[in-house]
Amino acid sequence: MTTTSFPARPTVTLIEGDGIGPEIAAATVRAIAAAGGQIEWERQLAGMTAAEQTGDPLPAATVASIKQHQVALKGPLGTPIGAGFRSVNVTLRQQFDLYANVRPTVTIPGVPSRYTGVDIVMVRENTEDLYAGVEHYIDARRSAAESIAIITRYGSERVIVYAFEYARRHGRKRVTLVHKANILKLSNGLFLDVGREVAQRYPDIVFDDMIVDATAMKLVVAPERFDVIVTMNLFGDILSDLTAGLIGGLGVAPAANIGDAGCAIFEAVHGTAPDIVGRGIANPTGLMLSAAMLLEHVGQGDAAARLRKGILVALADVTTRTGDLGGQADTRGYTDAVVRAIEA
Ligand code: ATP
Repeated sequence: MTTTSFPARPTVTLIEGDGIGPEIAAATVRAIAAAGGQIEWERQLAGMTAAEQTGDPLPAATVASIKQHQVALKGPLGTPIGAGFRSVNVTLRQQFDLYANVRPTVTIPGVPSRYTGVDIVMVRENTEDLYAGVEHYIDARRSAAESIAIITRYGSERVIVYAFEYARRHGRKRVTLVHKANILKLSNGLFLDVGREVAQRYPDIVFDDMIVDATAMKLVVAPERFDVIVTMNLFGDILSDLTAGLIGGLGVAPAANIGDAGCAIFEAVHGTAPDIVGRGIANPTGLMLSAAMLLEHVGQGDAAARLRKGILVALADVTTRTGDLGGQADTRGYTDAVVRAIEA
């Protein structure tokens, strides 16, 4: 894994996105500035907005900007309906080889949830498995189809190493590898074998493994048992939404897509929320927490900590959190409260 150093005031590509994207991006940019984050934003288009304005949901200028600056903050994107349009999110992950999807889920005081004491980081392999795109009908009548899960030693090792390095960097104690190697003995067996090999290089971190179905049950019965989870693409896709549910839903869940040499895209994991666009009530917490991860990534940990503190204070109070979390504030009122708490 390569580490990169960033300038004191790096340029970051900002893709506001579709639906509520511009509303939550404006709130997030304001909160970052209040927290002392030193970022030069370069705005670029993607998704439906880009398709409408340029005919291309992922314009070359956007790709070039991310290539140049290596870091992006991205709001939710819609995929235009119609032939030939692939998911922009999937295209970006493949184009920049963003192999690790990282989703921290921590119980947030004040946010309604069934659980307390959840503090899990899900590291999901982002490029292989059933998402490698190897799919076809097996006969001309299209009476049957197959999708092939590709698991490579290379792809497994880099994401598992990332999970262990993340654990070490963040003072975490345990990495749990999630698989189905009892049935998928070759593909999942390879992922597990690589996990066991990599674990030997990290004697300071406890390593264990768990079958995915047992994991799903344990996550809802005793989520406090987990620390860092590393898993393959499909299981990670499903389980990371489950873990978001443990802390109150997708509205408060941040995510990072990490590649090599510092390249990373930070994003909110919720959708474009077309039902509330333009009403000024969208909750920007997911994107703000992703922005805190971005600040850490570019070496601005102090600003990240200030931003997180502001978010936690504003969420803890029913009068300053947003309606989707049972609160009384709109986007503006919530963002004002975040900024006030940062400056207090
Ligand atoms: P998409 O098609 O982009 O996935 P969607 O509406 O199917 O959009 P979400 O955007 O995730 O899926 O929305 C699901 C529900 O959660 C909607 O009622 C939406 O308004 C709400 N929601 C999602 N994100 C937020 C947010 N940040 N703030 C407030 N409500 C949100």
